[in-house]
Amino acid sequence: MKDFNPADKIQDLQYFGEFGGVNPSISDSSTYTFLSAKTMFDTFEGNMEGCYLYSRHSSPSNLYLDQALAAMEGTETANVSASGMGAITPTLLQLCGAGDHIVSSRTIYGGTYAFLKNFTPRFGIETSFVDITKLDVVEAAITPKTKVLYCETVSNPLLEVADIAGLAQLAKKHNLKLVVDNTFSPLSVSPAKLGADIVIHSLTKYINGSSDTVGGVTCASKEFINSLKNVNSGASMLLGPTMDSLRSASVMKNLRTLHIRIKQHSHNAHFLADHFEKDGLKTVYPGLKSHPSHELYKTMINPEYGFGGMLTIDVGTLAKANELMELMQTRNLGYLAVSLGFYKTLFSAPGTSTSSEIPIEEQHEMGLTDGLIRFSIGLDNDIERTYKMMKACMVELGVL
Ligand SMILES: *Cc1c(COP(=O)(O)O)cnc(C)c1O
Repeated sequence: MKDFNPADKIQDLQYFGEFGGVNPSISDSSTYTFLSAKTMFDTFEGNMEGCYLYSRHSSPSNLYLDQALAAMEGTETANVSASGMGAITPTLLQLCGAGDHIVSSRTIYGGTYAFLKNFTPRFGIETSFVDITKLDVVEAAITPKTKVLYCETVSNPLLEVADIAGLAQLAKKHNLKLVVDNTFSPLSVSPAKLGADIVIHSLTKYINGSSDTVGGVTCASKEFINSLKNVNSGASMLLGPTMDSLRSASVMKNLRTLHIRIKQHSHNAHFLADHFEKDGLKTVYPGLKSHPSHELYKTMINPEYGFGGMLTIDVGTLAKANELMELMQTRNLGYLAVSLGFYKTLFSAPGTSTSSEIPIEEQHEMGLTDGLIRFSIGLDNDIERTYKMMKACMVELGVL
């Protein structure tokens, strides 16, 4: 992966506005005129490159962002959507139909878990949830009906690491598509370079980074993205989770600073994880030697972007977790909020929030404990100062 630097790929893209603006013009139209009826027909049939028809299908602003995200992930092309779920759900419905089977990591985003567990069975699509870190367990779950292997590079909220290269080999062997949600690790990991077929992001998180919108993207081959957008049979085209042009233009501008932000998020999270662990807190962070997949993850990342901005600690009980989060919020150390990738540190107790779709017994089975706090570490200028203030909160509440 040394010759592939995703931030350089983004930097190399230049888009100008209609009047020489340094940002591309925003296409503020839902529909497009044609000079000839023949061209309109050909566009409908999908035979005209570069012609716009209707903005649910594609728009110039969305195509700029598609290209930039495809460049970042090293895929042929991409398709942005109105939310991360708006990328995940059409992608899986495009790949699977009645009678098909999915093997998925059991530690995934709560919404994706609910979709696979409760929603897709209505359409005859069944999912086996497995410990994704055990390749033999993954392979044993594959049946003749399996079409998709699904995982998150770094899982939410337990920060388990998927061996993408190993999973890609399995996918190839059994003729499956490997779909990877890379929301927690943009720039740090390039799943397509490790063999993933399709890479998905919730743009809502790090990529947009300002917690002012939801958004998503599917990065894949031209063939797959064309199938998603097909006017007669494409799940994205027909279900309609289209991103608005004004929004894609604003996400594009934020994408330009992603590399700087990721480095700072990683730096700050690594500092805190090191110190929390030394203080005796049960800390999970892929950059720590104590993380079960630390050595593997080291081989997967583009090192300059680090191990990411997410970490968890376990303070024993939900009551303690809640007390600590409330106190840290009072001291302006972060916000008690779900989501991630913001300039400000965000924290939540996943068992009662983002993973509450997962039944309690299953939460316990996968190691999601009551006292777990998930942190999305912010862009704090002086992380040592933040650490001292967080530690003071912990000492005050008897956590340390
Ligand atoms: C937030 C999130 C999603 C869903 O994205 P939305 O933009 O909220 O629809 C999917 N996967 C992961 C890992 C997430 O964190």
